[in-house]
Amino acid sequence: MFANKFPPLTAYLLCLCSLGIFSAKANAAWVEDTQNIMGTRISISFWHDSAAIAQRALADGMAEMRRIDQTLSPYIETSDLALLNKNAAAAPQAISDELLFLVDKSLYYSRLSDGAFDITFASLGWFYDYRNKLQPSVKQRDKLLPAINYKWLQLNPKQKTLRFLHPNVRIDLGGIAKGYAVDRVIDILKGYGVEHATVSAGGDSRVLGDKGGRPWMVGIKNPRDGGDESAAPVIRLPLENVAISTSGDYERYFIDDQGHRVHHIINPKTGESASGLVSVTILGPQGADTDPLSTTVFVLGVEKGLALINQLRGFDAILIDSKGTVFYSDGLLAPDAAPATSGAAS
Ligand code: AMP
Ligand code: MG
Repeated sequence: MFANKFPPLTAYLLCLCSLGIFSAKANAAWVEDTQNIMGTRISISFWHDSAAIAQRALADGMAEMRRIDQTLSPYIETSDLALLNKNAAAAPQAISDELLFLVDKSLYYSRLSDGAFDITFASLGWFYDYRNKLQPSVKQRDKLLPAINYKWLQLNPKQKTLRFLHPNVRIDLGGIAKGYAVDRVIDILKGYGVEHATVSAGGDSRVLGDKGGRPWMVGIKNPRDGGDESAAPVIRLPLENVAISTSGDYERYFIDDQGHRVHHIINPKTGESASGLVSVTILGPQGADTDPLSTTVFVLGVEKGLALINQLRGFDAILIDSKGTVFYSDGLLAPDAAPATSGAAS
């Protein structure tokens, strides 16, 4: 094939050149690893000119994921988040720059979505146990629903404190932490000079550069493939230098006695699982935004969700509803799409 395309001498020179490049990068390494951290699968893969440095970068990336888990997990009693939940209703609590950033960003998305994204969902959401098929009782619902309201969060950026203004408030950063963690790991890899990488934490990923001269291919899962890891994705996207987050009703769920799917994305207005959409994917510059936006749009539904994404610069969305209809934000519409199908494709 090669000889057919080029005259023999050219082919020979090309061979020598590529051999030269190869020997200059004899220690280069393509590194990849997957570990279970933050209750999900964390994957890091990248290319580096030095195999030794690549191993250090990989170790630092995984260590950062573990650090974030130890800091933000609601299940680890000593985490910063658990301590806030224990003490912030009684008095303002000092918080780290990291928590300040995450709570501030969460409040931004709460205001932007009129409360569809709300980290105080956990006031009631804490009492869902998807593994053991448990949900809050009617009594718990009546008592705790009023505690879901981001306006109960008094964040003081100057003093770096957070206070809960309602005694039953509890917060959970599960809707933003993984996207943020992916950003952090990308920053660490960049610090080691990495230019081509992919990092993912469950449904939140970010790609840096390309993969050997071609875009990274990122798939959107079929929401109803029953968790089959080998099942083909419904949509495959060629991507470079972008964050991509998917929220789905298939991640953590159970089917209750009435046949309803009880899943982990909560509508803060009702305290129940959000219905209508089954999968929401958001594309944008960084995970700390695409992650909360995927959760937000899931709660808002097709119409309000697409309207929100279409007004934000630099973000796009792919939505799948319970009938399997796929909706795209304006930035992803095929140029020849007929006006009547605007936003929808089956
Ligand atoms: P994601 O997988 O990014 O859609 O995030 C889902 C996670 O976000 C859940 O497991 C909860 O920890 C959290 N969450 C659920 N509902 C909400 C909500 N309405 N606002 C903010 N966070 C939420
Ligand atoms: Mg999300």
